[in-house]
Amino acid sequence: MVPDANIYLKSDQYRHLARRYAEVNDRVVLLSCKKEEHRKDMTEDSFYPIGVTGFVNEVNPEGYVVIRTTGRVNLDIIGINPDHTIELTVSRCNEIEDLEDGVEQAHFERLKADLKENWQGFEWGEQAMGYLNQFHSINEVAVAMSIWFKMSADEKYDILAQDSHKKRLEMLEKAVYEFMEVSKVSTKAANAQQEDYQKIYKESAIKKQMELLQRELDEMHPEKVSDIRKFEIKIEEAGMNETAKGEALKVLNRLKQEGSGGTETGMLYDYLDFVTGLSWKKEQPQDIDLSEAEAVLEEDHFGLKKVKQRIIQQIAVMNLKKEQAGSILLFVGAPGTGKTSIGQSIAKALHRKYVRVSLGGVRDEADIRGHRRTYIGAMPGRIMDGIKKSGVSNPVMVLDEVDKLGVSYNGDPGSALLEVLDPEQNSTFTDHYMNVPYDLSDVMFICTANSVDTIPEPLLNRMEVIRFNGYTASDKFQIARRHLLPKSMKAMGVTEEEIVISDDIIRKIIDNYTMESGVRGLRKRLDTLCRSAAVEVSKRQGAAAVEAAKAAKAAETAAAEAAGKAAEAAKVSETAAAEAAGQAAGAKAPEEAESAASEKVGQAAEAATAPQTEVAAVKVEPIVVKEEDLREMLDAKPVRHDRVLAEKKPGIVTGLAWTAAGGEILFIETLFTKGSGKFTVTGQLGDVMKESVQIAVSLVKSMFPDKASLFEENDLHIHVPEGAVPKDGPSAGITMTTALSSLVSGRAVAPTIAMTGEVSLRGVVTPIGGLPEKLMAASRAGIQTVFIPQENEDDLDEVPQEVKDKLTIIPVSDVTEVLEKTGILDK
Ligand code: ADP
Repeated sequence: MVPDANIYLKSDQYRHLARRYAEVNDRVVLLSCKKEEHRKDMTEDSFYPIGVTGFVNEVNPEGYVVIRTTGRVNLDIIGINPDHTIELTVSRCNEIEDLEDGVEQAHFERLKADLKENWQGFEWGEQAMGYLNQFHSINEVAVAMSIWFKMSADEKYDILAQDSHKKRLEMLEKAVYEFMEVSKVSTKAANAQQEDYQKIYKESAIKKQMELLQRELDEMHPEKVSDIRKFEIKIEEAGMNETAKGEALKVLNRLKQEGSGGTETGMLYDYLDFVTGLSWKKEQPQDIDLSEAEAVLEEDHFGLKKVKQRIIQQIAVMNLKKEQAGSILLFVGAPGTGKTSIGQSIAKALHRKYVRVSLGGVRDEADIRGHRRTYIGAMPGRIMDGIKKSGVSNPVMVLDEVDKLGVSYNGDPGSALLEVLDPEQNSTFTDHYMNVPYDLSDVMFICTANSVDTIPEPLLNRMEVIRFNGYTASDKFQIARRHLLPKSMKAMGVTEEEIVISDDIIRKIIDNYTMESGVRGLRKRLDTLCRSAAVEVSKRQGAAAVEAAKAAKAAETAAAEAAGKAAEAAKVSETAAAEAAGQAAGAKAPEEAESAASEKVGQAAEAATAPQTEVAAVKVEPIVVKEEDLREMLDAKPVRHDRVLAEKKPGIVTGLAWTAAGGEILFIETLFTKGSGKFTVTGQLGDVMKESVQIAVSLVKSMFPDKASLFEENDLHIHVPEGAVPKDGPSAGITMTTALSSLVSGRAVAPTIAMTGEVSLRGVVTPIGGLPEKLMAASRAGIQTVFIPQENEDDLDEVPQEVKDKLTIIPVSDVTEVLEKTGILDK
């Protein structure tokens, strides 16, 4: 380091040292250290007592900063702050200017000529001479070459410490000539080597040189780094296991051989891009603050008390066992009940990355495990794809719709998934495309499904089922108020000042425009409502703006006048206020007086600005959403919920159905017509329900032997009105049997009674699924009494209290109990 020279620093280096981004003309003091040391270990003794001042002369967009040094300074006081920044007090050094005019220049010219001569014959000579021509002084040459000087830090510092300019010049000159001699000697020595040896030496030296230069070039122009080079670097840095690294290098070699136009180039490129894009680093388990996690879950989702409780337990266990995966959770419930989004909240609570992988409609094993690379258009499977997207090796991965996995001739995706989820096997999960193992053991898997019925048993066994029972109307209201509506308004860019949606309107939307256990449809409706409102708001604002422009013109003159007056008033009251303050100070109540005074000034100031604000604010009346506008704003017809029938008639009984959208009530209608024992079933019924019909017929015949002949003498017609959603499942068994019993006995069942349960040929009522949703549907439809299978009694815990309060729920274990309690059979 000497004055009047250029010092080059990388921008990062500058930022690190100066703790700020470089800007041209930044003033700096450069200190020189006695030895290499970490910044935080430095004390005031770490530095030599003389430094150099300078300024940033250039901030180069290619990433370096040029500092032009100016003069030498004594570091009088060096203070090191606790944050390792340095504070200095400096004074100018004594300079002995003993160089006569022109001497320095003459020395420089001579040195330049000698250097040129010395460098002739070297391959790099030409280039180096180009640089040399850019230097203007020995100082600059010496600084540029100083990294090659065989000098200790002390020796270098001695040059800086020299007050005499003449002596300093001599010392610098000497250092450069010494360097020249050394390089001469080493060239001679090299020449003396045997030719063979020289060749080997040269080759390896060139290679090293090339590597170094390449790296430097890469750093200077990251955008120009070749793909091959990029992959080389990435493979080195990715932290892959040995097998993976071996495979990647093999593919890279093939890519090099193929060149850019080869038939396999694309495939090889994609492969490397994929494997080097994965995170191979093992993440350390983090301590989780349980109350914070609880708060995150609470903030994002309303209700779901049991679900949240269960999740917190899981997190607590993971915390204690320092595990990242935990047991595999399966969230089961109707769409829109928050299964996926709570997965996201779990990731947030755990401070981990979240990724969602949809398995709906997956039929090929390759979708899970990838295609072999020999296959044209081969791709990695969805699991590894998800890992890549997450960018880490331990994301929270939500596997959506595991109940929608199919099986095809292309293998069983379920069994591949089993391998993914099995902690015994998933630390070496091998995707066919990658063809090397990847460790999935730190991934936290959460699966979601609408029902467990179609999930293969072995898969189900691995998971812990957590049920999402659907929301009651009041839950939905709270969710809409607290979460969905604010989100929709934000998404559509409307504010509470612009659109007013009353509680009543939200309830109307829930009751009349949605039919679901979850809130997905509700969210869509609210989005549509806000979108419609947004259009209206911008229309009104447009109109108001035109009006305002006219008004503004007129108001401008008036405002200017008013402002003038108000400013005057402000002036007057300011003096008054100051006076008041003065007086009050005398009266020993300074604080009060001061606040009174500042209030006055404040008022005066307000008065001065008031006319302007009035002109600026264009007032637009908010849109108040009214019930009669809903249909148009939502652009939808109100949904039709089945309600209890108005009159009772033998042969018609109300049942309860579970559908993917939640619960619904259904009616089973039966009728005898003159005929010869045929029976017809109509309505949208699944195969399982058709079987229930057969069971019911046999059962009724055996329970009412004297009426059995009716079935021979008549044709039987059973109809299940379609309603809004197709229904299937065995749980209509009891309803079917009751309807037929009612028909044959001629005794009608009250339409406010509903029932659900499977029946066996012996008349035993067996348990069913989806009880909470069914009971919610019953209470919504106005049912008063519900028969449920005895064995489902435990599920009542899951049913919201407000639903239970509205219903009389009667557990039964046998068909005859139902028939007695509905009045078909006498007790
Ligand atoms: P699922 O995965 O069960 O089909 P989602 O997680 O996709 O349902 O939820 C649908 C939408 O409803 C999301 O916008 C979600 O944030 C919202 N949502 C669902 N349940 C709740 C809840 N309890 N509180 C707040 N928002 C909810």
